[in-house]
Amino acid sequence: MRPLLILDCDEVILRFAAPFRQWLDEVHGLALRLDSFALVGNIRHKADGRPLDPAAFPALLDGFFATGQPLQAPAEGAVEAITALARDMDVAVLTNIPEAYRAIRAEVLRGHGLDLPVHANDGGKGRVVKALAGGRPAVFVDDLPPHHSSVASHAGHVGRLHMVADPELRRLIPAAPDAHARHDAWPEAEIWIRDWMEKAA
Ligand SMILES: [Mg+2]
Repeated sequence: MRPLLILDCDEVILRFAAPFRQWLDEVHGLALRLDSFALVGNIRHKADGRPLDPAAFPALLDGFFATGQPLQAPAEGAVEAITALARDMDVAVLTNIPEAYRAIRAEVLRGHGLDLPVHANDGGKGRVVKALAGGRPAVFVDDLPPHHSSVASHAGHVGRLHMVADPELRRLIPAAPDAHARHDAWPEAEIWIRDWMEKAA
């Protein structure tokens, strides 16, 4: 059976924080400062420094998914590593994005040379990872620690690699306690993924 690599999109395949910040500034006159690992609370109106009303955040994020995704560039080395891995395993994207914006995400990835199936999800990813992986050797990669906990409890046999592509965010996100390893750079991640698949086969 071909192994399965399950990848998060934002801050794993594509950069998110930097293009989101650019879009907030240009489209809404908002400033995002990453003083802590949170989006809500770190966004202010540039005009008067007022913090963004947290109730306005969900619509803002939807707006980015609707019109801002083309600003998202791949993480350094991501396209090369994923293209190489896809020769030896199936690769799927599991991303927490409303279904309405899934096709845009797939199109943006294709534009970067990554023609991959994209699954839209909401909440913890463990159950979907379990269903996608079935009994095959599998690895899950995500930047958010709670998703590693969710996968650990629902699909414990799946290798869990913690990766944070954004250099600024890296400092703010400690290693996920429920991941097997942490690699923020794709060349090291590729080696770890191949190694896990070999041992799990
Ligand atoms: Mg992410």
